[in-house]
Amino acid sequence: MFNEEMRSEKPIRWAMVGGGRGSQIGYAHRSSATRDGHFQLVAGAFDIDANRGRDFGVNLGLDASRCYADYLTMFAEEAKREDGIQAVSIATPNGTHYAISKAALESGLHVVCEKPVTFTVVEAEDLKRIAKAHNRIFGVMYGYTGFQMVHQAREMIKRGDLGEVRVINMQFAHGFHSEEVEKDNPGAQWRMNPEVSGPTYVLGDIGTHAFYLAQLMTDLDVDTLCCTRQSFIKSRAPLEDNAHVLMQFTNGAVGTLWASGVNAGSMHQQKIRIVGEKASLEWWDERPNQLSYEVQGEPARILERGMGYLNNDDSAVSSDRIGGGHAEGFFESWSNLYSRFGIVMKAADREDQETVNSTWYPGIDAGIEGVRLLERCVDSADNDSKWVKYHE
Ligand code: NAD
Repeated sequence: MFNEEMRSEKPIRWAMVGGGRGSQIGYAHRSSATRDGHFQLVAGAFDIDANRGRDFGVNLGLDASRCYADYLTMFAEEAKREDGIQAVSIATPNGTHYAISKAALESGLHVVCEKPVTFTVVEAEDLKRIAKAHNRIFGVMYGYTGFQMVHQAREMIKRGDLGEVRVINMQFAHGFHSEEVEKDNPGAQWRMNPEVSGPTYVLGDIGTHAFYLAQLMTDLDVDTLCCTRQSFIKSRAPLEDNAHVLMQFTNGAVGTLWASGVNAGSMHQQKIRIVGEKASLEWWDERPNQLSYEVQGEPARILERGMGYLNNDDSAVSSDRIGGGHAEGFFESWSNLYSRFGIVMKAADREDQETVNSTWYPGIDAGIEGVRLLERCVDSADNDSKWVKYHE
Protein backbone atom coordinates (compact mmCIF):
# COMPACT_ATOMS: atom_id res chain seq x y z
CA MET A 1 0.00 0.00 0.00
CA PHE A 2 1.02 3.61 -0.57
CA ASN A 3 3.50 4.81 2.04
CA GLU A 4 3.01 8.45 2.91
CA GLU A 5 6.24 8.46 4.93
CA MET A 6 8.32 8.10 1.79
CA ARG A 7 8.69 11.86 1.61
CA SER A 8 12.09 12.07 3.25
CA GLU A 9 13.29 15.33 1.81
CA LYS A 10 11.97 18.87 1.74
CA PRO A 11 9.17 19.67 -0.73
CA ILE A 12 10.28 20.88 -4.14
CA ARG A 13 9.68 24.63 -4.50
CA TRP A 14 7.18 24.65 -7.34
CA ALA A 15 5.37 27.11 -9.60
CA MET A 16 2.72 26.99 -12.27
CA VAL A 17 2.44 28.69 -15.62
CA GLY A 18 -1.25 28.82 -16.58
CA GLY A 19 -3.92 26.95 -14.70
CA GLY A 20 -5.40 30.23 -13.49
CA ARG A 21 -8.86 31.14 -12.27
CA GLY A 22 -11.56 29.19 -14.09
CA SER A 23 -9.12 27.08 -16.11
CA GLN A 24 -10.14 23.50 -16.70
CA ILE A 25 -7.08 21.73 -15.37
CA GLY A 26 -5.18 24.06 -13.00
CA TYR A 27 -6.81 22.78 -9.83
CA ALA A 28 -6.05 19.15 -10.73
CA HIS A 29 -2.33 20.01 -10.91
CA ARG A 30 -2.28 21.94 -7.62
CA SER A 31 -4.36 19.44 -5.73
CA SER A 32 -2.34 16.43 -6.94
CA ALA A 33 1.14 17.95 -6.76
CA THR A 34 0.81 19.15 -3.19
CA ARG A 35 -1.09 16.17 -1.83
CA ASP A 36 1.86 13.99 -0.82
CA GLY A 37 4.18 16.77 0.20
CA HIS A 38 6.58 16.40 -2.71
CA PHE A 39 5.77 19.88 -4.02
CA GLN A 40 5.00 23.22 -2.42
CA LEU A 41 3.41 25.95 -4.54
CA VAL A 42 5.46 29.13 -3.97
CA ALA A 43 5.06 31.15 -7.18
CA GLY A 44 3.10 31.40 -10.39
CA ALA A 45 2.39 33.14 -13.68
CA PHE A 46 -1.10 31.74 -13.66
CA ASP A 47 -2.93 33.71 -16.27
CA ILE A 48 -2.62 35.45 -19.62
CA ASP A 49 -4.22 38.42 -17.80
CA ALA A 50 -1.52 39.60 -15.36
CA ASN A 51 -3.87 41.27 -12.85
CA ARG A 52 -6.26 38.36 -12.71
CA GLY A 53 -3.30 35.99 -12.31
CA ARG A 54 -1.87 38.00 -9.43
CA ASP A 55 -5.21 38.26 -7.69
CA PHE A 56 -5.71 34.51 -8.09
CA GLY A 57 -2.26 33.66 -6.70
CA VAL A 58 -2.76 35.91 -3.68
CA ASN A 59 -6.13 34.25 -3.04
CA LEU A 60 -4.34 30.89 -3.05
CA GLY A 61 -2.10 32.23 -0.27
CA LEU A 62 1.01 33.14 -2.26
CA ASP A 63 3.13 36.19 -1.63
CA ALA A 64 2.00 38.91 -4.09
CA SER A 65 5.61 39.51 -5.12
CA ARG A 66 5.81 35.92 -6.39
CA CYS A 67 2.65 36.14 -8.54
CA TYR A 68 4.23 37.20 -11.81
CA ALA A 69 2.85 38.93 -14.90
CA ASP A 70 4.51 36.43 -17.25
CA TYR A 71 6.64 33.30 -17.18
CA LEU A 72 9.88 34.91 -18.41
CA THR A 73 9.81 37.42 -15.55
CA MET A 74 9.06 34.61 -13.14
CA PHE A 75 11.99 32.45 -14.29
CA ALA A 76 14.38 35.45 -14.18
CA GLU A 77 13.23 36.78 -10.77
CA GLU A 78 13.04 33.39 -9.11
CA ALA A 79 16.58 32.55 -10.30
CA LYS A 80 17.85 35.50 -8.21
CA ARG A 81 16.38 34.12 -4.98
CA GLU A 82 18.09 31.63 -2.66
CA ASP A 83 14.70 30.01 -2.15
CA GLY A 84 13.69 30.29 -5.82
CA ILE A 85 11.56 27.74 -7.63
CA GLN A 86 13.03 24.37 -8.59
CA ALA A 87 10.24 23.02 -10.80
CA VAL A 88 7.34 24.31 -12.85
CA SER A 89 4.15 22.82 -14.25
CA ILE A 90 2.84 24.19 -17.52
CA ALA A 91 -0.94 24.15 -17.97
CA THR A 92 -1.48 26.65 -20.75
CA PRO A 93 -3.03 26.14 -24.21
CA ASN A 94 -0.97 23.87 -26.51
CA GLY A 95 0.65 26.55 -28.68
CA THR A 96 2.68 27.92 -25.76
CA HIS A 97 4.10 24.64 -24.41
CA TYR A 98 7.29 24.55 -26.45
CA ALA A 99 8.46 28.10 -25.71
CA ILE A 100 7.60 27.91 -22.00
CA SER A 101 9.17 24.45 -21.54
CA LYS A 102 12.34 25.52 -23.34
CA ALA A 103 12.68 28.67 -21.23
CA ALA A 104 12.06 26.68 -18.04
CA LEU A 105 14.63 23.99 -18.82
CA GLU A 106 17.19 26.62 -19.82
CA SER A 107 16.53 28.31 -16.47
CA GLY A 108 17.49 25.06 -14.74
CA LEU A 109 13.96 24.01 -13.78
CA HIS A 110 12.39 20.56 -13.82
CA VAL A 111 9.23 20.59 -15.94
CA VAL A 112 5.85 18.92 -15.92
CA CYS A 113 4.06 19.87 -19.13
CA GLU A 114 0.58 19.29 -20.41
CA LYS A 115 -0.05 17.27 -23.54
CA PRO A 116 0.34 17.50 -26.47
CA VAL A 117 3.78 18.77 -25.50
CA THR A 118 4.50 20.54 -28.81
CA PHE A 119 3.13 21.00 -32.32
CA THR A 120 5.94 18.98 -33.99
CA VAL A 121 8.19 15.99 -33.25
CA VAL A 122 11.23 18.18 -34.02
CA GLU A 123 10.23 20.56 -31.19
CA ALA A 124 9.51 17.69 -28.78
CA GLU A 125 12.88 16.10 -29.51
CA ASP A 126 14.51 19.47 -28.99
CA LEU A 127 12.99 19.60 -25.49
CA LYS A 128 14.35 16.12 -24.80
CA ARG A 129 17.82 17.26 -25.83
CA ILE A 130 17.67 20.40 -23.68
CA ALA A 131 16.35 18.50 -20.66
CA LYS A 132 19.21 16.00 -20.99
CA ALA A 133 21.83 18.72 -21.40
CA HIS A 134 20.63 20.41 -18.19
CA ASN A 135 20.03 17.13 -16.31
CA ARG A 136 16.40 18.13 -15.78
CA ILE A 137 13.36 15.86 -15.52
CA PHE A 138 10.64 16.41 -18.11
CA GLY A 139 7.29 14.88 -17.13
CA VAL A 140 4.22 14.85 -19.35
CA MET A 141 0.79 14.92 -17.74
CA TYR A 142 -0.80 11.83 -19.19
CA GLY A 143 -2.98 11.90 -16.09
CA TYR A 144 -4.77 8.58 -16.60
CA THR A 145 -1.55 6.59 -16.41
CA GLY A 146 -1.40 6.85 -12.62
CA PHE A 147 -4.39 4.51 -12.25
CA GLN A 148 -3.32 1.28 -10.60
CA MET A 149 -5.38 -1.03 -12.79
CA VAL A 150 -3.56 0.34 -15.85
CA HIS A 151 -0.31 -0.89 -14.29
CA GLN A 152 -1.96 -4.19 -13.40
CA ALA A 153 -2.80 -4.60 -17.10
CA ARG A 154 0.76 -3.73 -18.06
CA GLU A 155 2.18 -6.38 -15.69
CA MET A 156 -0.27 -9.06 -16.88
CA ILE A 157 0.57 -8.42 -20.53
CA LYS A 158 4.29 -8.40 -19.75
CA ARG A 159 4.17 -11.77 -17.99
CA GLY A 160 2.22 -13.32 -20.89
CA ASP A 161 -1.29 -13.74 -19.40
CA LEU A 162 -2.80 -12.81 -22.79
CA GLY A 163 -0.21 -14.52 -25.00
CA GLU A 164 0.94 -12.51 -28.00
CA VAL A 165 -1.09 -9.30 -28.42
CA ARG A 166 -3.21 -9.35 -31.60
CA VAL A 167 -5.68 -6.46 -31.47
CA ILE A 168 -5.66 -3.12 -29.62
CA ASN A 169 -8.84 -1.07 -29.47
CA MET A 170 -8.41 2.47 -28.19
CA GLN A 171 -11.09 5.09 -27.84
CA PHE A 172 -11.72 8.38 -26.12
CA ALA A 173 -15.01 9.61 -27.49
CA HIS A 174 -17.12 12.10 -25.53
CA GLY A 175 -20.20 14.02 -26.58
CA PHE A 176 -19.51 17.41 -25.00
CA HIS A 177 -18.78 19.09 -28.33
CA SER A 178 -21.69 17.66 -30.30
CA GLU A 179 -22.88 21.24 -30.75
CA GLU A 180 -20.91 24.40 -31.46
CA VAL A 181 -20.21 25.02 -27.75
CA GLU A 182 -17.09 27.06 -28.56
CA LYS A 183 -19.29 30.03 -29.48
CA ASP A 184 -19.42 31.02 -25.81
CA ASN A 185 -16.80 28.82 -24.14
CA PRO A 186 -13.23 30.22 -24.32
CA GLY A 187 -11.73 26.90 -23.11
CA ALA A 188 -13.34 25.15 -26.10
CA GLN A 189 -12.64 28.06 -28.49
CA TRP A 190 -8.85 27.78 -28.49
CA ARG A 191 -9.07 24.01 -29.00
CA MET A 192 -10.66 24.60 -32.44
CA ASN A 193 -8.09 27.22 -33.49
CA PRO A 194 -5.06 25.67 -35.28
CA GLU A 195 -2.79 28.53 -34.21
CA VAL A 196 -3.34 27.68 -30.54
CA SER A 197 -4.39 24.04 -30.60
CA GLY A 198 -1.96 22.83 -33.27
CA PRO A 199 -2.60 20.65 -36.31
CA THR A 200 -5.35 18.59 -34.62
CA TYR A 201 -8.22 18.96 -32.17
CA VAL A 202 -9.63 15.67 -30.81
CA LEU A 203 -6.61 13.60 -31.82
CA GLY A 204 -4.31 15.78 -29.70
CA ASP A 205 -6.79 16.72 -27.00
CA ILE A 206 -7.94 13.21 -26.11
CA GLY A 207 -6.64 10.68 -28.66
CA THR A 208 -3.12 11.04 -27.27
CA HIS A 209 -4.38 9.88 -23.84
CA ALA A 210 -5.84 6.62 -25.15
CA PHE A 211 -2.81 6.03 -27.38
CA TYR A 212 -0.34 6.44 -24.53
CA LEU A 213 -2.40 4.19 -22.25
CA ALA A 214 -2.14 1.43 -24.87
CA GLN A 215 1.57 2.09 -25.38
CA LEU A 216 2.16 1.86 -21.64
CA MET A 217 0.16 -1.36 -21.30
CA THR A 218 1.69 -3.19 -24.27
CA ASP A 219 5.08 -1.57 -25.04
CA LEU A 220 4.26 -2.11 -28.73
CA ASP A 221 5.49 0.19 -31.46
CA VAL A 222 3.38 1.33 -34.43
CA ASP A 223 4.70 0.45 -37.88
CA THR A 224 2.15 2.08 -40.18
CA LEU A 225 -1.13 3.90 -39.76
CA CYS A 226 -3.92 5.46 -41.76
CA CYS A 227 -6.34 8.07 -40.52
CA THR A 228 -9.59 9.68 -41.54
CA ARG A 229 -10.80 12.82 -39.77
CA GLN A 230 -13.90 14.98 -40.07
CA SER A 231 -15.30 18.27 -38.80
CA PHE A 232 -18.97 17.50 -38.23
CA ILE A 233 -19.35 21.08 -36.99
CA LYS A 234 -18.21 22.71 -40.22
CA SER A 235 -16.78 25.85 -38.61
CA ARG A 236 -14.13 23.66 -36.90
CA ALA A 237 -12.42 22.80 -40.19
CA PRO A 238 -9.57 22.21 -40.76
CA LEU A 239 -9.47 20.73 -37.26
CA GLU A 240 -11.37 17.51 -36.69
CA ASP A 241 -14.03 16.78 -34.09
CA ASN A 242 -13.97 13.08 -34.96
CA ALA A 243 -11.18 10.78 -36.16
CA HIS A 244 -10.57 7.10 -36.78
CA VAL A 245 -7.08 5.66 -37.03
CA LEU A 246 -6.12 2.17 -38.21
CA MET A 247 -2.72 0.95 -37.00
CA GLN A 248 -0.38 -1.92 -37.74
CA PHE A 249 2.13 -2.68 -35.00
CA THR A 250 5.62 -4.01 -35.59
CA ASN A 251 4.79 -7.37 -33.91
CA GLY A 252 1.95 -7.97 -36.38
CA ALA A 253 -0.83 -6.74 -34.08
CA VAL A 254 -3.45 -4.34 -35.46
CA GLY A 255 -5.32 -1.55 -33.72
CA THR A 256 -7.90 1.18 -33.99
CA LEU A 257 -8.15 4.54 -32.26
CA TRP A 258 -11.43 6.47 -32.17
CA ALA A 259 -11.14 10.03 -30.89
CA SER A 260 -14.29 12.11 -30.88
CA GLY A 261 -15.96 15.12 -29.31
CA VAL A 262 -19.28 14.42 -31.03
CA ASN A 263 -20.18 11.03 -29.51
CA ALA A 264 -23.55 12.41 -28.41
CA GLY A 265 -24.64 11.25 -24.99
CA SER A 266 -21.24 9.87 -23.99
CA MET A 267 -19.39 11.16 -20.93
CA HIS A 268 -15.86 9.96 -21.82
CA GLN A 269 -15.89 6.38 -23.07
CA GLN A 270 -12.14 6.26 -22.76
CA LYS A 271 -11.71 2.55 -23.14
CA ILE A 272 -8.71 0.36 -23.95
CA ARG A 273 -9.20 -3.26 -24.99
CA ILE A 274 -6.15 -5.45 -25.51
CA VAL A 275 -6.84 -8.77 -27.22
CA GLY A 276 -4.23 -11.52 -27.02
CA GLU A 277 -4.01 -15.12 -28.25
CA LYS A 278 -5.54 -16.51 -25.04
CA ALA A 279 -7.38 -13.70 -23.31
CA SER A 280 -8.35 -10.02 -23.36
CA LEU A 281 -8.12 -7.12 -20.93
CA GLU A 282 -10.37 -4.08 -20.93
CA TRP A 283 -10.12 -0.87 -18.88
CA TRP A 284 -12.36 2.21 -18.85
CA ASP A 285 -11.55 5.53 -17.22
CA GLU A 286 -15.18 5.76 -16.07
CA ARG A 287 -14.73 2.65 -13.90
CA PRO A 288 -11.02 2.91 -13.11
CA ASN A 289 -11.05 0.62 -10.06
CA GLN A 290 -11.89 -2.40 -12.19
CA LEU A 291 -10.09 -4.31 -14.93
CA SER A 292 -11.97 -6.86 -17.03
CA TYR A 293 -9.96 -10.06 -17.65
CA GLU A 294 -11.59 -12.38 -20.14
CA VAL A 295 -9.97 -15.76 -20.79
CA GLN A 296 -11.27 -17.59 -23.85
CA GLY A 297 -13.60 -20.43 -22.74
CA GLU A 298 -13.91 -19.21 -19.14
CA PRO A 299 -16.31 -16.85 -17.39
CA ALA A 300 -15.13 -13.22 -17.54
CA ARG A 301 -13.47 -11.89 -14.35
CA ILE A 302 -13.52 -8.39 -12.94
CA LEU A 303 -10.27 -7.65 -11.09
CA GLU A 304 -10.71 -5.08 -8.34
CA ARG A 305 -8.19 -2.48 -7.20
CA GLY A 306 -6.65 -2.96 -3.76
CA MET A 307 -6.95 -6.75 -3.68
CA GLY A 308 -4.22 -9.23 -2.70
CA TYR A 309 -4.44 -11.12 -5.97
CA LEU A 310 -3.05 -8.18 -7.95
CA ASN A 311 0.56 -8.06 -9.04
CA ASN A 312 2.78 -7.16 -6.17
CA ASP A 313 4.75 -4.77 -8.30
CA ASP A 314 5.77 -1.21 -7.89
CA SER A 315 2.58 0.43 -9.15
CA ALA A 316 -0.47 -1.85 -9.11
CA VAL A 317 -0.24 -2.39 -5.35
CA SER A 318 2.11 0.14 -3.79
CA SER A 319 0.16 3.10 -5.23
CA ASP A 320 -3.00 1.92 -3.49
CA ARG A 321 -3.98 4.65 -1.05
CA ILE A 322 -7.14 3.55 0.73
CA GLY A 323 -7.58 -0.19 0.27
CA GLY A 324 -10.01 -2.11 -1.92
CA GLY A 325 -13.70 -1.29 -1.89
CA HIS A 326 -13.21 2.42 -1.29
CA ALA A 327 -13.40 4.00 -4.72
CA GLU A 328 -10.30 5.85 -5.88
CA GLY A 329 -10.34 8.12 -8.86
CA PHE A 330 -8.88 10.89 -10.97
CA PHE A 331 -7.04 12.78 -8.22
CA GLU A 332 -5.36 9.65 -6.96
CA SER A 333 -4.14 8.85 -10.47
CA TRP A 334 -2.71 12.34 -10.84
CA SER A 335 -1.21 12.24 -7.33
CA ASN A 336 0.52 8.95 -8.15
CA LEU A 337 2.12 10.66 -11.13
CA TYR A 338 3.14 13.77 -9.18
CA SER A 339 4.69 11.50 -6.50
CA ARG A 340 6.78 9.90 -9.21
CA PHE A 341 7.73 13.26 -10.72
CA GLY A 342 8.82 14.36 -7.23
CA ILE A 343 10.90 11.23 -6.66
CA VAL A 344 12.79 11.53 -9.96
CA MET A 345 13.30 15.30 -9.67
CA LYS A 346 14.85 14.90 -6.22
CA ALA A 347 16.96 12.00 -7.50
CA ALA A 348 18.17 14.08 -10.47
CA ASP A 349 19.15 16.89 -8.11
CA ARG A 350 21.36 14.57 -6.06
CA GLU A 351 22.68 12.97 -9.28
CA ASP A 352 21.14 9.61 -8.42
CA GLN A 353 20.77 8.40 -12.01
CA GLU A 354 19.93 4.86 -10.91
CA THR A 355 16.68 6.02 -9.28
CA VAL A 356 15.83 8.19 -12.28
CA ASN A 357 16.37 5.27 -14.66
CA SER A 358 14.53 2.70 -12.58
CA THR A 359 11.45 4.80 -11.77
CA TRP A 360 8.65 4.74 -14.31
CA TYR A 361 6.97 8.07 -15.10
CA PRO A 362 5.49 9.55 -18.29
CA GLY A 363 8.49 11.47 -19.59
CA ILE A 364 9.48 13.34 -22.71
CA ASP A 365 9.58 10.13 -24.81
CA ALA A 366 5.88 9.67 -24.06
CA GLY A 367 5.35 13.27 -25.13
CA ILE A 368 7.30 12.76 -28.36
CA GLU A 369 5.24 9.68 -29.28
CA GLY A 370 1.99 11.60 -28.79
CA VAL A 371 3.15 14.34 -31.15
CA ARG A 372 4.44 11.77 -33.65
CA LEU A 373 0.98 10.16 -33.68
CA LEU A 374 -0.60 13.53 -34.51
CA GLU A 375 1.90 14.30 -37.28
CA ARG A 376 1.44 10.92 -38.92
CA CYS A 377 -2.38 11.05 -38.60
CA VAL A 378 -2.55 14.47 -40.24
CA ASP A 379 -0.24 13.31 -43.02
CA SER A 380 -2.51 10.32 -43.68
CA ALA A 381 -5.90 12.01 -43.23
CA ASP A 382 -5.02 14.98 -45.41
CA ASN A 383 -3.74 12.71 -48.21
CA ASP A 384 -6.80 10.53 -48.90
CA SER A 385 -6.20 8.42 -45.80
CA LYS A 386 -3.11 6.82 -47.30
CA TRP A 387 -1.08 4.42 -45.18
CA VAL A 388 2.01 6.12 -43.75
CA LYS A 389 5.05 4.83 -41.88
CA TYR A 390 4.84 5.72 -38.18
CA HIS A 391 8.60 6.34 -37.90
CA GLU A 392 9.93 8.29 -40.86
P1 NAD B 1 -8.00 26.70 -20.21
O1 NAD B 1 -8.23 27.55 -21.41
O2 NAD B 1 -9.17 26.28 -19.38
O3 NAD B 1 -6.96 27.42 -19.22
C1 NAD B 1 -5.72 27.92 -19.70
C2 NAD B 1 -5.09 28.78 -18.61
O4 NAD B 1 -3.80 29.19 -19.05
C3 NAD B 1 -5.87 30.06 -18.32
O5 NAD B 1 -5.81 30.31 -16.93
C4 NAD B 1 -5.10 31.14 -19.10
O6 NAD B 1 -5.27 32.44 -18.60
C5 NAD B 1 -3.69 30.63 -18.91
N1 NAD B 1 -2.73 31.10 -19.92
C6 NAD B 1 -2.85 31.12 -21.27
N2 NAD B 1 -1.71 31.56 -21.84
C7 NAD B 1 -0.85 31.84 -20.83
C8 NAD B 1 0.48 32.35 -20.77
N3 NAD B 1 1.17 32.63 -21.88
N4 NAD B 1 1.05 32.52 -19.55
C9 NAD B 1 0.37 32.21 -18.42
N5 NAD B 1 -0.90 31.73 -18.42
C10 NAD B 1 -1.50 31.55 -19.61
O7 NAD B 1 -7.20 25.42 -20.73
P2 NAD B 1 -7.19 23.97 -20.07
O8 NAD B 1 -8.37 23.21 -20.54
O9 NAD B 1 -6.91 24.04 -18.61
O10 NAD B 1 -5.94 23.32 -20.85
C11 NAD B 1 -4.62 23.70 -20.61
C12 NAD B 1 -3.68 22.59 -21.10
O11 NAD B 1 -3.96 21.41 -20.37
C13 NAD B 1 -3.88 22.21 -22.57
O12 NAD B 1 -2.64 21.90 -23.16
C14 NAD B 1 -4.75 20.97 -22.54
O13 NAD B 1 -4.54 20.10 -23.64
C15 NAD B 1 -4.29 20.33 -21.26
N6 NAD B 1 -5.29 19.49 -20.57
C16 NAD B 1 -4.89 18.28 -20.13
C17 NAD B 1 -5.75 17.46 -19.44
C18 NAD B 1 -5.23 16.14 -18.93
O14 NAD B 1 -6.02 15.26 -18.60
N7 NAD B 1 -3.93 15.95 -18.81
C19 NAD B 1 -7.07 17.85 -19.24
C20 NAD B 1 -7.46 19.12 -19.70
C21 NAD B 1 -6.56 19.94 -20.36
